[in-house]
Amino acid sequence: MTGSKRERIVARAVACIAAVGLVAAMGACGSDGSAGAAASNTSGTLNVVASINQWGSVAGDIGGSRVKVTNIINSTAIEAHDYEPTSADIAAMAKADVIVVNGAGYDSWATKAAASTTAQVVNAAESGGKHDGDNPHVWFSAAVRTAAAKAIAAAYEQRDAAHAKEYAKRLDAWQNKEKTLESAIAEAKRRLNGKKYAATESVAAYLAEDLGLTDATPAGYAQAVANESEPASGDVTAFSKLLQAGSVALLVVNTQESNATTKQLIASAQHGGVHQVKLTEQMPKQYSTLTDWMTALVASFATAGKA
Ligand SMILES: [Zn+2]
Repeated sequence: MTGSKRERIVARAVACIAAVGLVAAMGACGSDGSAGAAASNTSGTLNVVASINQWGSVAGDIGGSRVKVTNIINSTAIEAHDYEPTSADIAAMAKADVIVVNGAGYDSWATKAAASTTAQVVNAAESGGKHDGDNPHVWFSAAVRTAAAKAIAAAYEQRDAAHAKEYAKRLDAWQNKEKTLESAIAEAKRRLNGKKYAATESVAAYLAEDLGLTDATPAGYAQAVANESEPASGDVTAFSKLLQAGSVALLVVNTQESNATTKQLIASAQHGGVHQVKLTEQMPKQYSTLTDWMTALVASFATAGKA
């Protein structure tokens, strides 16, 4: 590139930045103005960033081809609770039109980073009335899923009013799928209602609640795990005995968190003939939508009800 051409481009970019300040419209700056790429939407699609892939899938369902979704945490191999964002993550969020965070303290890094952007921010937990201190695994809750989907559609309509009808239509289609899932939950609940379950980690607590199950995990153990501390050996022993005696209908195992204690509990469940529901915290690769993943989990829980 010649010096004079570079100078012209730089001058143009500066003019672009000035124009943004004045009229907040970048269309006139052209597609080759790099200063415009971040702030405008010449492609006609909304740039969406989701902190975790389960919410990214809902964002994609409701946006269709109108959105480009980037998921920051996209794998069951990542420990989401301790995630440290990279500079690329922060840069992606800075360019987003809409950011979807989980909230409830699950991804505080994302909530914090989102606050310093100009994006429309959807906090899934908050939209469903869950806050810091509540169980943060809110995608397992039918009520939060629906509230978050509506909040995502509202954010799209806010940023792209011209296509509001399209987003509303896609939200309707999403809700129909969720209704089918809720029928499956109601069906499973008929078999599971009032039965006891225990969990190596309270990841699926909202789903268990929706299924009418009662949490019988020893309180000391549950408390320690929720605080990410080592459970007392007395609590582990009490939990093992509970399983060996077959006093609960099922044991929920978070396979993303495997250690000597969880292995002991699984062995105790096998000994006591307790059905195990194995799941991960993040959405596994074989599912492309949160609804499909939840539907498969409901089937797995329902199997325990047949025993
Ligand atoms: Zn967790």
